Amino acid sequence: MRRTKHIFVTGGVVSSLGKGLTSASIGLLLERRGLSVRMQKFDPYINVDPGTMSPYQHGEVYVLDDGSETDLDLGHYERFTNSPLTRDSNWTTGQIYQQVIRKERQGVFLGQTVQVIPHITNEIKAAIAKLAGEDVDVVITEIGGTVGDIESQPFLEAIRQFALDVGKENCLYIHLTLIPYLRAADELKTKPTQHSVGQLRQIGIQPDILICRTEKALGSEERAKIALFCNVPIEAVIEERDKEFSIYEVPLSLMERGLDELIVRRLGLRTPKPQMDDWLELLQKIRNPKYEVSIAVVGKYAEHRDAYKSIYEALDHGGIANHTQVHIQRIQTQVVEREGAERVLTGFDGILVPGGFGERGIEGKIQAIRFAREKRVPFFGICLGMQCAVIEFARHVLGWKEANSTEFNKETPYPVICLMDEQWNITDKGGTMRLGAKPALLVPGTRSAECYQTDVVWERHRHRYEVNPQFEEVLAGAGLQVAATSPDRKLIEIVEIPSHPWFVGVQFHPEFKSKPTAPHPLFVGFVRAALARRQAVSGKGPVSAESLAASH
Ligand code: GLN
Repeated sequence: MRRTKHIFVTGGVVSSLGKGLTSASIGLLLERRGLSVRMQKFDPYINVDPGTMSPYQHGEVYVLDDGSETDLDLGHYERFTNSPLTRDSNWTTGQIYQQVIRKERQGVFLGQTVQVIPHITNEIKAAIAKLAGEDVDVVITEIGGTVGDIESQPFLEAIRQFALDVGKENCLYIHLTLIPYLRAADELKTKPTQHSVGQLRQIGIQPDILICRTEKALGSEERAKIALFCNVPIEAVIEERDKEFSIYEVPLSLMERGLDELIVRRLGLRTPKPQMDDWLELLQKIRNPKYEVSIAVVGKYAEHRDAYKSIYEALDHGGIANHTQVHIQRIQTQVVEREGAERVLTGFDGILVPGGFGERGIEGKIQAIRFAREKRVPFFGICLGMQCAVIEFARHVLGWKEANSTEFNKETPYPVICLMDEQWNITDKGGTMRLGAKPALLVPGTRSAECYQTDVVWERHRHRYEVNPQFEEVLAGAGLQVAATSPDRKLIEIVEIPSHPWFVGVQFHPEFKSKPTAPHPLFVGFVRAALARRQAVSGKGPVSAESLAASH
């Protein structure tokens, strides 16, 4: 019988070290060795999921096919690996406690005192064990937060116990840490790492491998020092430098430092060397773009680097497919409101308005969309961005000045965006939107159908409001066409302006289904349109898809 191996990834010294990216890279390298991998993340905060958290606090909420609202690191997992992700792939302290408390109310614990150890830790261990199985070689479990945080303790205790349950030889502990560079001393400092590993060892976890994030190369002297003080062999001190070009370089650089080899050896897995040809080709393309475009992403949370994470990644993927480097400019809606769309947006080759909630920033989005529509700049509207495109069209083409979404004005005489039946009477905020993968039927002959090259697509949703079908005919009559609907034709999933070079609004989130090796067709189409515009404006004439293909 195949025994599933477990890798636990913890982090120390500071947060935001790129644990998610590193875990995803490990997953990728193991998959490329022919192993079947499952990925999961534990988040020590008490919210049940990030769905109700502000993007300022949490960054993007990443939605899975099954409708779970998860941490953005799961986006890295999906972009790098083929591990199927479900509700079982992301657990928070809130969810763990919710389960335990539910059981307590059901009387499952038969009169025992319910405690962190063993009840909470058992629940955590069950969540880890759930991913193991006959067809799984390796489960990678990332522990969010930083060693030393009070709220991380039960998770660390659980992963320590886990090795006792399944055997030490089946578990591997990887600790990601920071080696800061002190300019005044012109030195890399290993002390914070020593302390962080010291704390792990106090809990009873001796890390097997240290991955050291650093801006300068780690010398053999520093590696030896870290190895000695942290009680690991020197070959297990792996350097991970900041990447110059792209996050997609991380797996290769870890491979070059021997990480995957070390992991399989330690876990006793016999596998061939990783098959990385397509990945190398991908990096080749990333490093040598033939063209460039600049895209404005106009959003309420644009100043936050991670608020639209998957959108930025998907734009990059669309660029890679077109041999194009995409320069993304994050623009806050308030800036458009203050300075005017013309001033802020002139010169961009494409404008993207992402999703969002609440009224703030709406007018800036509408101005940006009006600018894109009137100046014929390629436009991509996603979720709220699409809803704003419909409002903009109703206001400025149909002349319905008060057109709005009932999310922002319940009394509008033109509720072009409104709640559909199933969203009435819902009062709970968490997990109650229209969530997860749903099918959509594409209208043949539309730009979207041309991009997708198929009739039915499954895309992920996260919204309450919808385009009001009552207005479909009038909008279409004025030039805003429906390009996809739900299979029962009740919900409008894509709108387009056929007379515009590229104006597409989607009710769903295509960015969650884009991978560097499988770029999303709509992002490919959008970047291609932006490139065509740039070349037309610079007088070189538009580049056709065929000429792009022919030149490579
Ligand atoms: N606020 C809008 C709704 O709930 C859009 C949501 C989104 O952009 N994800 O429908």
